[in-house]
Amino acid sequence: MKIRISEQAIPEIEANTIIILLPSRLPEALQTLDPALKNRIDEARQAMPLYTKDSIVLLSHGEVKAQKLFLLKVPDNADSFELRQIYSQAGREARLRELGPDVAIALTGLLDPLMEAEIAVEGLVQGSYLPELYKTEKAHKSLENLILCFSRTFEIEKIVRKAELVGNTQNYVRDLVNEPASRATPLFLVEEAKRIASETGSRIEVLSLNDAEKMGMGAFSAVARGSDQPAFMVKLHHPGEDGAQKLGLVGKGLTFDSGGLSLKPWESMTTMKSDMAGAAAVLGAFRVLSFLRPELDFMAFLPLTENLPSGKSYKPGDVVRAMNGKTIEVLSTDAEGRLILADALCWAVKEGVTHIVDVATLTGACIIALGHETTGLFTNSEAWRKQILMAALKAGERVWELPMFPEYKELIRSEIADLANSAGRSGAPAGAIFGAMFLKEFVPEEIAWAHMDIAGPSWLPKSSKTMASGATGASFRTLVELGLSF
Ligand SMILES: [Zn+2]
Repeated sequence: MKIRISEQAIPEIEANTIIILLPSRLPEALQTLDPALKNRIDEARQAMPLYTKDSIVLLSHGEVKAQKLFLLKVPDNADSFELRQIYSQAGREARLRELGPDVAIALTGLLDPLMEAEIAVEGLVQGSYLPELYKTEKAHKSLENLILCFSRTFEIEKIVRKAELVGNTQNYVRDLVNEPASRATPLFLVEEAKRIASETGSRIEVLSLNDAEKMGMGAFSAVARGSDQPAFMVKLHHPGEDGAQKLGLVGKGLTFDSGGLSLKPWESMTTMKSDMAGAAAVLGAFRVLSFLRPELDFMAFLPLTENLPSGKSYKPGDVVRAMNGKTIEVLSTDAEGRLILADALCWAVKEGVTHIVDVATLTGACIIALGHETTGLFTNSEAWRKQILMAALKAGERVWELPMFPEYKELIRSEIADLANSAGRSGAPAGAIFGAMFLKEFVPEEIAWAHMDIAGPSWLPKSSKTMASGATGASFRTLVELGLSF
């Protein structure tokens, strides 16, 4: 979607629809409406509960240049998170009701105007997304242009360009995740990473399975061996100014997870094309940060592979060796995400990053704990935790910390090797913490590290009022805000 700013009075704006969010008092920008229309809006607002739950479409009858007005109710005390949700809802309904292709929006004035402008653009772009990649006939026409009613200043231009980039890139991340696994293979993601590298003037290094094996990435290689699709380990480097700190983003890129020989039940496999949502979020964040913070020196690491059963697959009971020399007993081949991440973390450490965030659809247990609303956060650093939670707040994403008390180390004990990758039975307790305790073994204490388990929020099983079902792009905006504040 393209965004433009207009200083015209609302009645003069030419668009298919003007979206108006209504708190109990008419926002300042709407005072320019002629009295007749103002009265109709007031009437409609009072009548809203009779017609629909919280929104209504009015035809303008020539009182304004736009053909339609789309009104949505907003609580007067809405905070930034809630307002973002309502803007998403507005985008979603505008798309479903085909109120475009050109829509205009006036702000409510409930928040600082620049902050609201950013939230409004991101929310509308993201809300209007539908995963109709393969519909032979597009069921719902796209919203193409968004006109923001605002007096033009340097600051607002900057904010709108950022929100446009963030909103559209989040939808790109969702496309990557929604793509079927037979198309979005490891090679497909490598091509995307190469395209982003050249677009952003970044360096890219792509390791084949052979290269990875030679570098000692025995955990990644064990998982990759079972598939006929070539697997890759990718490093992206955006060279900025040298500083004391260097950020490393790591994203799990399991392009399809069958569970391997510890095969999943078929129902659990239906959404497993999304097991690369971490890698997609990292790719998106890498792209946006390269544009918005060209001076920042940072890296991204993407282990990309499938996990399939075959004659070459690794087996339960196998022992594999990660790049840092630690040996791992594989009790479940379905706990493969932590294995490929182990080697990606080791590589990030070797490349000299001082701060790491890994993002992964790691455990079903995290969905049990936090549902599809919230990302689980684990970290070894108090300061890093604060920075990540601040970024999540700014991004409007729900993130909640889970513990890594030393007692939990008992979970990952193995009799035969340094660590076990799983409890080796289903329904074992503290599964999300197990994953985090395992990953911690691959990052030295002096490096600030955090792990975000996005198994729940990265995929919505059912559409909500504000968001289409399927891929959501969860954690992408938090990574962007984290990079911007780094
Ligand atoms: Zn798995």
